[in-house]
Amino acid sequence: MIDYHLHVVAHDDRPMTVENILAYCEVARERGILQLGITEHDRYLDEIDLAAYREAREKSQDVELRLGIEIDFVPGKEERMDHDSTALPYDYIIGSVHRVDGEEVDRATDQTIYERWDTYDLYEAYYANVRAAALSGRFEVLGHPDLIKIFRRFPDRDITGMLEETADAIAESGIVVDVNSAGLRKPIREIYPSRKLLEMFYRRGVPIILSSDAHAPGEVGMGYENSLPLVRDVGYREVVTFKDRERGTLPL
Ligand SMILES: [Zn+2]
Ligand SMILES: [Zn+2]
Repeated sequence: MIDYHLHVVAHDDRPMTVENILAYCEVARERGILQLGITEHDRYLDEIDLAAYREAREKSQDVELRLGIEIDFVPGKEERMDHDSTALPYDYIIGSVHRVDGEEVDRATDQTIYERWDTYDLYEAYYANVRAAALSGRFEVLGHPDLIKIFRRFPDRDITGMLEETADAIAESGIVVDVNSAGLRKPIREIYPSRKLLEMFYRRGVPIILSSDAHAPGEVGMGYENSLPLVRDVGYREVVTFKDRERGTLPL
């Protein structure tokens, strides 16, 4: 198994030392995860210690390390995105939508955006950004594709059409979707994407990675007891892997 979206530096919680990286590898080894992809948020790019990463990659037993980055997709910030996604020799790039009109939708301490916007319109704007991120061609992986549900603030109208349109764009783009169990630790208590959206992806042949979005060693592989049965039940039999921007697969 793989865990391809996680944070060691996280939100400046710890430095990227060999020891700290190996602490994540140790949990991965205990939980039967064969490949770990470190994908710091782009705003902590300067905290990524390539030498420490490479030393940890040499020392890690049983668990292979990969290096990616999680780019915050913001239309109009192409220069910053270009810079961050070419700054280091990544194995793959995750593009994630966290914002609508430049404002974060997943900030637990400030959820006022959900009061200022009509929820349906906010979802429309969010999924328009998701489609733009996928179709931008900048990313190998689309992070947590339905993050907007995080606080259980749902539109009062059906959004199936919106999701279908988004799944169409994602399939057309050829991007890989992140099946991310961090949602289980949030108010929504559900994996990103929902089963309904994941089924839309499966029907369109959209490939997946699996991740925990761990921000601490103990969170590596967390929630896989839910995400593994989910993806298998939907029909998935393999996950995508990356090395030096080349795609491979591992059986589920
Ligand atoms: Zn994210
Ligand atoms: Zn993340």
